Amino acid sequence: MKRFIIPALAVLCAALAACGQNAERKTIFAMDAAAEISIIGENADSAFSAVEKELYRLDALMSRGRETSDVCHLNDNGSGEISADTAAVIKTALDISRETDGAFDITTAPLTDAWGFFNQSYRVPSDAEIQDILPRVGYENVTLNGNSVTLKGGARIDLGGIAKGYACGRAAEILRDSGIKSALISFGQSTIEAIGDKGNGAPWKIGIADPEDPTEYFMTLEITDECISTSGSYERYFEQGGKKYHHILGPSTGYPVENGLMSVSVICADPTRADALSTALFVMGRDKAAEFWKTNGGFDAIFITEGKKIYITPGLRDKISEPDGWVLETIE
Ligand code: ADP
Ligand code: MG
Repeated sequence: MKRFIIPALAVLCAALAACGQNAERKTIFAMDAAAEISIIGENADSAFSAVEKELYRLDALMSRGRETSDVCHLNDNGSGEISADTAAVIKTALDISRETDGAFDITTAPLTDAWGFFNQSYRVPSDAEIQDILPRVGYENVTLNGNSVTLKGGARIDLGGIAKGYACGRAAEILRDSGIKSALISFGQSTIEAIGDKGNGAPWKIGIADPEDPTEYFMTLEITDECISTSGSYERYFEQGGKKYHHILGPSTGYPVENGLMSVSVICADPTRADALSTALFVMGRDKAAEFWKTNGGFDAIFITEGKKIYITPGLRDKISEPDGWVLETIE
């Protein structure tokens, strides 16, 4: 069996150096990902340590890899009292599950395990195994009451599709509270939050990875004081029998989602929402996701599909560069 994994390069930060500003940078490893923080201006050192402390704290609460985390505690015991942060993440997760008709679902944990994405022992489970797991999957099995959670019917949770967005938001809050006016936080390179502009009045320029060669970026997006989160089928996958299996799973099917999408980016002010929505819209597929955008609004989106097509919402028209060889269409 051929197995390999490529680094998550959903979104590459275009070179900060190019903006002619002196940025202080630091990389912090938390939640199974690298958070790259660039700060322009003063107080960078104390801000870096405050962010580092916060990311380690959130990692300890929300990672399934940490035995004492809230998430492990709930999965082991089926219920319990959790921290206010984990409760806030679960609340947003459940809200988005309801809004997206279950496309986003934190109870996909047993499926993620069966496919080997959790401990990187990749395998294709039998259909019988998947059918056996599916009754335990469903966000309705999660009850949140204040900071108390109950998981019904053997459900287990995984915050991998939302926790990095929350952590990105907390990091941004700390930087803003430290008086920083200009910074970029890139978490796992899939959720990026811009604080202010580049310090010279120009927006931050974010490179969007080419799904056909994710080590390169093929278009850019300008953002100021907002966040972009990307979910891509090329971010984490393995191959078996000449077929690729990626990590975004359909909660109702139990299988990696195959709908012609290669990546979905969501751009909005709230990184927790952007992270969860990018995963949800990927699961929904382009048509349903576009309907969701039309009905709900509140965010912009980029859908990159097989067949070299890119669909964007109208709010991005003047902020995006058009890559050569791709057809760019605006969703109306
Ligand atoms: P990344 O972690 O690379 O930023 P995503 O935000 O798209 O990517 O989250 C994918 C992760 O979320 C998976 O690795 C898994 O842990 C979890 N997940 C997979 N499918 C779903 C789903 N349908 N709803 C919620 N979480 C999911
Ligand atoms: Mg996500």
